[in-house]
Amino acid sequence: LSPSGSGVVVSDASEAVKTIVATLAEHFEAAEEAVANVISNLEANGFPNPDEMHITQYLPQNTNRPLFLMRVAAQMKMASSKSRMVNTTLNAAPIFQRVDASSNPDSESLGAWGYQDSYFVLNVGPDGSKHVVMKGKRYGISGKKLPRLAKFVETELNIKINPNDVTFPAVENLQHIPATALNNDDLSVIAAVFGSGMGQVSIKPLDRARHGTGHTQEDMYGLRSGSLRSRLPDVIVRPKSEDEVKSLISLATDKNYCLIPFGGGTNVTHATHCPEKSDDPRPMISVDMKSMNRVVWVNKEDGLAHVEAGITGRQLIEHMEKLGFTIGHEPDSYEFSTLGGWIATKASGMKQNRYGNIEDIVKEVNVAGANGLVSNVHSAKETSFGRVSTGVDFKSIMLGSEGCLGIITSAVIKIWPIAEATSYESVLLPDFDAGLRFAKAISKMRTMKPASVRLLDNDQFRLGQALKPESSRLEQLKNAVSKQFGYYYGRLSEKTVVCATITFEGSVLEVQMQKKALRDIAASHCGILAGPAVGKAGYDLTFAIAYLRDFALNYRILGESFESFVPWSKLKHVIEATKQRILYEHRSRSLPGVPFVCSRITQLYDEGACVYFYFCMDISGIPNPSTTFATIEECARQAILHAGGSLSHHHGVGKLRAPFVHQIYSDGYMNSLIAVKKALDPDNVFGVGNGVLANHTPCDKDSGMK
Ligand SMILES: Cc1cc2nc3c(=O)[nH]c(=O)nc-3n(C[C@H](O)[C@H](O)[C@H](O)COP(=O)(O)OP(=O)(O)OC[C@H]3O[C@@H](n4cnc5c(N)ncnc54)[C@H](O)[C@@H]3O)c2cc1C
Repeated sequence: LSPSGSGVVVSDASEAVKTIVATLAEHFEAAEEAVANVISNLEANGFPNPDEMHITQYLPQNTNRPLFLMRVAAQMKMASSKSRMVNTTLNAAPIFQRVDASSNPDSESLGAWGYQDSYFVLNVGPDGSKHVVMKGKRYGISGKKLPRLAKFVETELNIKINPNDVTFPAVENLQHIPATALNNDDLSVIAAVFGSGMGQVSIKPLDRARHGTGHTQEDMYGLRSGSLRSRLPDVIVRPKSEDEVKSLISLATDKNYCLIPFGGGTNVTHATHCPEKSDDPRPMISVDMKSMNRVVWVNKEDGLAHVEAGITGRQLIEHMEKLGFTIGHEPDSYEFSTLGGWIATKASGMKQNRYGNIEDIVKEVNVAGANGLVSNVHSAKETSFGRVSTGVDFKSIMLGSEGCLGIITSAVIKIWPIAEATSYESVLLPDFDAGLRFAKAISKMRTMKPASVRLLDNDQFRLGQALKPESSRLEQLKNAVSKQFGYYYGRLSEKTVVCATITFEGSVLEVQMQKKALRDIAASHCGILAGPAVGKAGYDLTFAIAYLRDFALNYRILGESFESFVPWSKLKHVIEATKQRILYEHRSRSLPGVPFVCSRITQLYDEGACVYFYFCMDISGIPNPSTTFATIEECARQAILHAGGSLSHHHGVGKLRAPFVHQIYSDGYMNSLIAVKKALDPDNVFGVGNGVLANHTPCDKDSGMK
């Protein structure tokens, strides 16, 4: 206690203790005040019962008050107030439950992505450790123990996962869904359009809920929590032929019904949502195209096929594989999305470097519109389906039409002989800047470009590592040695390293040459080849990773991904600005935990690249989690636009992004498009209202963040 530290002067001790106690008391009072301020701030932001972690997160950091005292004050406050319990129960009842998949293993889950037999579960070992397993046998990681994932999520989001507390347990009863607006007579007239009558018509609540949604977080949250807010279609019809589609359109015109084309329902833009009743009171008919899934003809010599629009990617790929061909188009959703949906949204697949995007693959479209059948594929098999100069291209009008201009019934597409060789590689690079330079250099390689190149930022790379299955001791040793090898030379740091996963496809010679060129580029960007196994694992993981989001929702973690095309010159800025904006919006709402935001470059072009953002956050105790999340996502989208990115690279606009269209299009363009719509569909039979044709209020959300 003596200033010199030489010893305790007994006579001063009691004075010193008094001083210490007084100082502590003063600090503690201030700490209590700080805690009270945080609590009242959280209350004002909609958190009447914040837990200790949530309070601690928002304690002031830059004060002279000791942090430990504020923590103690927070603990004491929690202990003294029984009402401040962790708010763990969302007041929600799920609509859907996982059903027994054994009757049809290929059936699709409801209220979650993917097949019924494939989903993640969380298990707890005898030692209390949590590990995750993917059920089913479809994917590389299916059935394997993932020991690191739960820990990774807990650390990154600063949360504790309670395995016994699942947000949406299965229930017996369905949430009430408003009855269809159509009466039995209306339904009989609709059924009469189809060969098998009511066999192709459904008003089942589950069908209506599925067809009135897509795959946004709002759709999944709404379905699973029973809080679905969007209007649902009154009836689902499943035409089997172009003639049935045409008859349906005539009926809809006569009866003043609105038709909403529906493919796989995998859109992430609310594109298959019905317009609000106040905007369009007509009965809504969802036209599910999946029964129109035939391959009409294949011309192997020209490398072309005429295919009905309701075919799913999986069916199309399987069909072509049997003939020794591929379509080359592989969006991550290909198992469930359809050819018609790809055209209507202007989709892009991961191998676009080699095979092009949907606009390069589709040579002609056949559309059943309000003015009859548009296009020429139905009668003229001899037509030239290559590059022509014959005036305004009708298929360009349909690409990105999002169901607003007519129903695409079939298309002529390019097909390719299955590649002679497929190979994989992966490259570790010191940091994201080096990764971007590396990706840009590859983008200029033209014919030498590998079929797919994906660059994972450090956060996403670490997530990938956390998804690695339990490995044998030998593998662990191998990994540790190779890791040390990279770090030893000072070229890579665990905190900054990024990873590119690469898929090569082509002739044996092409693949050899591409690999050589890639090795040279990697070397000149301080990259270290991490081997084909990592590259293939990255490719395989793509399809399994889509299941993660719905699994996370079991434990109150809400997530979404969104994408943009960004020029090379602005890419780094867009990524940084978007991440910053999400963090800012999260913090300014005093939300609990830390959001996890990562990014990935997925498609490369000469002039720029497609970047995906992945964002998830803890929603414990948040009053309207899905709406809060959607608002932050909207701000992120605005940040992308402000920083020079585009509204969408391939997901489309739908209703979700429609409020932004006035920022990207001139009035002249939008008015022209509205005029085209009026000419093609004078009675607005296809009134789904997406993109420029949506009913929307313009959006320009700048939160004032500096
Ligand atoms: C996990 C996941 C991964 C994804 N990955 C990708 C990806 O890699 N690349 C990509 O591009 N997208 C991706 N998406 C988005 C989505 O899969 C695409 O937008 C896809 O093209 C939608 O096809 P769909 O058949 O499901 O169409 P739907 O969702 O049924 O419909 C989408 C729009 O197209 C219209 N439409 C559908 N069929 C027709 C038709 N026959 N005629 C006229 N209009 C029609 C609908 O009215 C609607 O406006 C992904 C989505 C998810 C959930």
